[in-house]
Amino acid sequence: MRVLVLGLDGADRDLVDRLLAEGRLPTLARLARDGAYGPLRSTIPAVTPTAWSSFLTGLNPAGHGIFNFSSNPNRGRSRVESAASRSGAPLWRLLGAGGVRSAFVTVPFTYPPEAFDGVVVSGYGGPERPEILPETAARAIEERVPGLVTAHHPMKERWWEDFGRYAATLIAHVDQIGEACRTCFDLEPDLGVLAVDFMSTDFAGHLGYARLDPAHPAHDPAASGDELVQVYQAVDRVCGELIDAARERYGEEPTAIIMSDHGMKPIYWTFHANEWLRRAGHLRYRRRSLQRFLRSGLRKVALADGRLARTTTWYGRLLDLVPFVPRPPADRAFADVDFGRTRAYCFATGGQIYLGEATGARDDAAFAERLARDFEAIPHPETGEPLFEVLRKRDIYHGPHIDRAPELVLIPRDERVHVESSRRDWPDVFMHHDTLDPEHFYGYSGHHGVTGIIAAAGPGIRPGTVPEGSEITQLAATVLRLHGLSSAGLEPPIETILAEADEAVSVAAESSDSDADVYSADEEAGILERLRDLGYE
Ligand SMILES: [Zn+2]
Repeated sequence: MRVLVLGLDGADRDLVDRLLAEGRLPTLARLARDGAYGPLRSTIPAVTPTAWSSFLTGLNPAGHGIFNFSSNPNRGRSRVESAASRSGAPLWRLLGAGGVRSAFVTVPFTYPPEAFDGVVVSGYGGPERPEILPETAARAIEERVPGLVTAHHPMKERWWEDFGRYAATLIAHVDQIGEACRTCFDLEPDLGVLAVDFMSTDFAGHLGYARLDPAHPAHDPAASGDELVQVYQAVDRVCGELIDAARERYGEEPTAIIMSDHGMKPIYWTFHANEWLRRAGHLRYRRRSLQRFLRSGLRKVALADGRLARTTTWYGRLLDLVPFVPRPPADRAFADVDFGRTRAYCFATGGQIYLGEATGARDDAAFAERLARDFEAIPHPETGEPLFEVLRKRDIYHGPHIDRAPELVLIPRDERVHVESSRRDWPDVFMHHDTLDPEHFYGYSGHHGVTGIIAAAGPGIRPGTVPEGSEITQLAATVLRLHGLSSAGLEPPIETILAEADEAVSVAAESSDSDADVYSADEEAGILERLRDLGYE
């Protein structure tokens, strides 16, 4: 059995349904017709590091411990997350334990790569140039796809200067990754699973919505275009080519799963969560801070200042009284929050609300409940209907890393509302998203939604509808089951899409629990600086 897992990063359920109805995604349409099709729920938060980590380990986020691109410094060691800081046994180890060879091509959060029975091309959430193992594969891929990158980051490509050019780059990247996958087929005559992710659909969604959607507040008729759809079509085409190539190479019909790690919605309004918390009296900013020195020779002083501000209740108050200490810049750093007087704050993306550690608010269950109800009462900026579904930690997380999880997560019922966590002084809590500024939130006009897609067809798949509520976290067990394997402790497979099978053989693999340093201090500082506008560091 050959299983292909083809990832359309960030492919949105509603948009895909529309494009299927218009006949514009023929590969996906064929899988949906011959097999199973339906929604695939992302993780909460619906962010790339978390969703792909759940895909790879089959674990709830509190099981693998990855909630963000970087950890919340108030909930453990401050670091940029990677495969080395993730708990659980990745899918390639479980497959290997069952004697199945696999290839993982540009799947996010596979860096640093580890050697296993197969090929790995590290993906997004690592260095720009992928690291490829084994050496023979690195040479073969470098020869056939010279200069391959994990993803074409929009800021580096200066997308706002010529969006047509940037979209062409995204499409060319799809073909390059397709060629890297075909190289894996040639290298691996006995391949059991190939998993690949195309980041191009994610970036096209973040940046192309204002051009595609005439109702988008930032839509400019003079700068409209359907590049977003063209990128979806390119990935659909390459998925079709890979299914054909696998059939030809291995002489049998492969099982094909096309999936996405989260959805993607246009942003019509931004909800500035930290501004709301500040006005409600739950969050305070420091008036004096040494965080300006973080990128200077006084880095150690800034780090000590940040640590004291995060862990004590007296330091922020004291420093506020010292007149010659500078004021924080307008785009305040994380440590410019006066945690000694803060009972709740929003961190990173995906609507994550953390309750104050230094103030003890984190352990105040009554406060958490009151705050959740206050959030639930916030009206939609246009309709006035209650906007947020507020998820409580205990209802969504289970696993050894639950202490690192946010206490509340805000999920807008209207996903055109973006919950953001920057620490600037915003004139309003809700703002119409009518200007796209690359200097803020990369100029994104689209953002992640919770609902992605899954289509599956071929040997081992039962045709039909995928039930609502099926989750990305279930895919590891689903892929294992297609090879007649199971593993204890994983979220269960999506049974409805699986044909009747014999009893699965149970496999086990060593779980990671390392805390190794992957990036140098300089690399970490650079990555965090780029993430700052998303509400990190
Ligand atoms: Zn993603």
